[in-house]
Amino acid sequence: MLDSILESIQVVALPTKTSFRSVDTREVLLIQGPHGWGEFSPFVEYTPRECVPWLVSAIESAYVSPPTKIREWIPVNATMPAVNGEQAIAEVLSWFPGCTSVKVKVGIDNAQDLARIEIVRQLIPNAKIRLDVNGNWSVEQALEILEKVSELGSIEFVEQPCATESELRELKNLLSTPILIAGDEIIRKSIDPLALNLDAAIDIVALKVAPLGGIKNCLNIAKHFQKPVVVSSALDSAVGISYGLKLASTLSQLPYACGLATGALLAIDLYELPIVNGAIKVNSMNPNPQILSECAVSGNRLDWWRDRVRQTWSAGADKWVTKEGWLS
Ligand SMILES: [Mg+2]
Repeated sequence: MLDSILESIQVVALPTKTSFRSVDTREVLLIQGPHGWGEFSPFVEYTPRECVPWLVSAIESAYVSPPTKIREWIPVNATMPAVNGEQAIAEVLSWFPGCTSVKVKVGIDNAQDLARIEIVRQLIPNAKIRLDVNGNWSVEQALEILEKVSELGSIEFVEQPCATESELRELKNLLSTPILIAGDEIIRKSIDPLALNLDAAIDIVALKVAPLGGIKNCLNIAKHFQKPVVVSSALDSAVGISYGLKLASTLSQLPYACGLATGALLAIDLYELPIVNGAIKVNSMNPNPQILSECAVSGNRLDWWRDRVRQTWSAGADKWVTKEGWLS
């Protein structure tokens, strides 16, 4: 199987509209199998071990037929990167037509964060605002900032306010106004999410299809935690986003708009995924051949990605795929 994966590899570099996680170009590796396309695009600093679920998800996407979908349109949220100033924030919001949930990236600079939240509230007065802290606050910081934020208006939830399980528990215990807490990194960076018990630490589980090893594993994780889920992504190309849409289309409950509109932050994507009244349609992935060739990565960079697939395969993807029986 590794040979046929390596044979089908294409890598593209997609320019972003705005710096996101300090990324200006998103490199994405694509594979093709009997069921279509799969995306492998862990951020460049991830170790082969950390990349394993990402490769498993890409292989599942290309080689395994997905579960039956129960909805066609997936409600999505706007994502507000750490941009500042009313004009820049209004411009980003304009890329997400009809989205009433806005995920605001915070956690680096408190004054700028509060200003960003306030501007979003002014621009979309009925917006449901969720915050994504990426684990950057201490418990004390979280308490202080969340109190200030709550004075300005209600918050849909706050994603990964602190990094560790014990901090999340402590925060939840100390919050004077209850605010829902979503777990993201605490789950997707865990070696074994199914071994975690996050009761009294989080209220909502963020499901990201690639870092959690594909749709089947995401469904197992959702079942394990028995909490409401929010489907999200990691600045994927249209192929990766479409796989997240497929996951969302199979879930019996979908209480929150999904973080699957981040394609709006790319200047060029593999194909159009239009946001219509705050939702994106589940689709069969269909990359535009012209964009595949215009954005193609070759030479050393392509070799680096091929090597990354080989290393990730040996780091555990091989065993996982064998266990699933996808080899036959
Ligand atoms: Mg997050």
